[in-house]
Amino acid sequence: MKITYSIIAPIYNEIENLPALYSRIKEVLNSTGEPWELVLVDDGSTDGSTEKIRELAQQDKTVRPVIFARNFGHQVAITAGWDYARGDAIIIIDADLQDPPETILELAKKWKEGYEVVYAVRGEREGESWFKKFSAAMFYRLIYSITDVKIPVDTGDFRLMDRKVVNVLKQMKERHRFPRGMSAWVGFKQIGVTYKRAARVAGVTKYPFRKMLKLALNAITGFSYFPLQVATYFGFISAGVAIFAIPVVVFMRMAGSGAFFGQATTLIAVLFLGGVQLISLGILGEYIGRLYDEAKGRPLYIVRDEPQDS
Ligand code: UDP
Ligand code: MG
Repeated sequence: MKITYSIIAPIYNEIENLPALYSRIKEVLNSTGEPWELVLVDDGSTDGSTEKIRELAQQDKTVRPVIFARNFGHQVAITAGWDYARGDAIIIIDADLQDPPETILELAKKWKEGYEVVYAVRGEREGESWFKKFSAAMFYRLIYSITDVKIPVDTGDFRLMDRKVVNVLKQMKERHRFPRGMSAWVGFKQIGVTYKRAARVAGVTKYPFRKMLKLALNAITGFSYFPLQVATYFGFISAGVAIFAIPVVVFMRMAGSGAFFGQATTLIAVLFLGGVQLISLGILGEYIGRLYDEAKGRPLYIVRDEPQDS
């Protein structure tokens, strides 16, 4: 049977959310009257979500479980979803019900109008800390200003994509992934739909600050050379300052001034330039480490159990 909608939900320790996720998606998708499937990608859960997913799949053949051998991360789980989805429209949704399944109908409406990527824009956000909202807002704006691709602000992974788009994304094998950037990069006819992001139904966020930082680095390095160019800018600025400063110091010495005697001046200059150089080296390291990961060519994820029908 030809499937119209594939819903992909990455699952990392979401046992309490799974029953509600399944029943709400089922209700919404059944109301379309079109065939659909729910691809549940278990990203190395340790709280029994894996067994729950298997149980759901046994009861209902529309549920297709992809069980990872360990935790590979949210972005990789989404990627596996793309690989296993068979529908004409592919929808990514968070498992904690922060993205209301009912919004899928609005996304689908735009798709039927001919849009190939329909991304959901977070208008309001409920139940999230001040820090989370602030850091997210900064993150989206920073990425927007320094990357070469115009990635829509306040937009997460919740989106619908046409089969054509997902077929292109499946060819993009980069290891350090930023799916929202990738789906902006490919082009096609894109449009946003605003929605109200709800609070997490149960459980806690799986995105501590450390993971958010990693995601931000993936986004920046994946879509921009700007950090590499910063070293060049600093180089020109220091050289420019030196060109003006040297004659000034020479002149002051000849005029008998003692302004630049002493070790403090030297120490400040050495520490400042040393700092700039080390930071530049670190930035280079970020890119080199990523190159090294690409060169190793390891599989992006390891699946322990596939859906029976693939
Ligand atoms: N997630 C995942 N692997 C991870 C971390 C998160 O598959 O290593 C899933 C998680 O189960 C959820 C989605 O990614 O379905 C978004 O995570 P979360 O709600 O914790 O992020 P937040 O909404 O707080 O940014
Ligand atoms: Mg969430």
